[in-house]
Amino acid sequence: MTARRYFIETWGCQMNELDSQRMAGQLMAQGILPTRDPQEADVILLNSCSIRDKAQQKVYSRIGEYRLFKGERPQLRIGLCGCVAQQEGQRALDVVPDLDFVLGPARVGELREVLSRRDAGERVLATGFPEVRPFDLDAIARDGSHKGMVTIIEGCNKRCTFCIVPTTRGAERSRSLREIVKEVRHLLDYGFVEIELLGQTVNHWRDPIENLDFADLLAVVAPMAGLKRLRFVTSYPRDFTPRMIEQVALHSNICPYLHLPVQSGSNSVLRRMGRGYTHEEYRALVAALRAARADLAISTDLIVGFPGETEAEFQDTLQLVEDMNFTALYAFKYSPRPGTAAPRLPDAVDDVTASRRLQILLDFQNVIQRRLNEDLVGREYEVLVTGAGRQTGTLAGRTPCHRIVHFNGEPSMYPAGSLVQVRVDRALTHSLLASSLSA
Ligand code: SAM
Repeated sequence: MTARRYFIETWGCQMNELDSQRMAGQLMAQGILPTRDPQEADVILLNSCSIRDKAQQKVYSRIGEYRLFKGERPQLRIGLCGCVAQQEGQRALDVVPDLDFVLGPARVGELREVLSRRDAGERVLATGFPEVRPFDLDAIARDGSHKGMVTIIEGCNKRCTFCIVPTTRGAERSRSLREIVKEVRHLLDYGFVEIELLGQTVNHWRDPIENLDFADLLAVVAPMAGLKRLRFVTSYPRDFTPRMIEQVALHSNICPYLHLPVQSGSNSVLRRMGRGYTHEEYRALVAALRAARADLAISTDLIVGFPGETEAEFQDTLQLVEDMNFTALYAFKYSPRPGTAAPRLPDAVDDVTASRRLQILLDFQNVIQRRLNEDLVGREYEVLVTGAGRQTGTLAGRTPCHRIVHFNGEPSMYPAGSLVQVRVDRALTHSLLASSLSA
């Protein structure tokens, strides 16, 4: 008898990546094995992102492609998972007749049960935010061996006027410090050297029982034996406290890299976005972080073309980017999302203007980023190998400051998860080229 196979396609953030690992683990525990070919799969899961309209459209068009496989494989099950699943719910089952189930992000731990309900004939709608959410630490198919991801806080309580996350991922729920430490220990014992703590507002974590915040959590997790690199994403600027900055300064294994989305450099736009800080406060936070940790690299997210954004407000964003020296920038054109407040704001920015601003911003950042990378030529770094490079005989990895590095080496010598000493030879805009110094 041939084994049953699954295929998972994942879009979006690290939380979706981890949710896919959780779903893969549940399938493997039932003897369903992975395949890279959707055409030979018995279960196809589309783990979707709804942060922008394009991402949502993409998942629907993919379902359209995969449902054709049912002609050859009538037993094929197709599940819509992730944020679009939560957002669309019953509507997805109504508009796509071949869709077998819809599984929201807070119901990921129920995949096994959902599949048996489907086998019993039900087209299953599993969305919403139940109080009890099964989570099986042993049934997570950890992908790759360089980075162990641990969710510490789910959902989001902020009400940024552009963002759909509070609708799709629900209200904030922090896991207890005890559970988090147990999972980190499990991953370190398994051999991971880098741990990435996850949350939409990761630094808003609070222990649900004791009076502990994210600074306390860092103080407990960072010193854990075997932990070479600790990272966390995504930090919300307003939630950073001096005690957290102290912890970042104190533990050298906390990577000198922080993703700190600013969204705009204009106070009036930030106010319309409901971000709860000014660009001056953001600048002061970055200055305090860099004073505490001189080698700190900071990346950010920016939205252009937000309703009412004037040319002068866009110039404020360029000014902030010029001043901040971000080592990476993820910039997006504003996309109106259902159930959010921003689409009701006046003076929508037309697509031509938004596209032009996006291009100007990206070109502007590329020059800065190239210069910052060139400053690193000649420096030596310990690189965490993430896998094979694009060319044969090369490997890819990350510096502690999260730069992508390509260097000479073979996976047989340095498998993913190895730490290799390299010297930077050349800077590109988005990566560094280096030579291995390890024997
Ligand atoms: N929770 C994080 C925060 O707010 O700082 C990030 C959440 S989101 C998954 C990642 C990024 O997508 C945001 O930082 C923002 O730049 C972008 N984004 C969110 N909603 C958007 C929208 N409606 N249009 C364009 N970009 C959007």
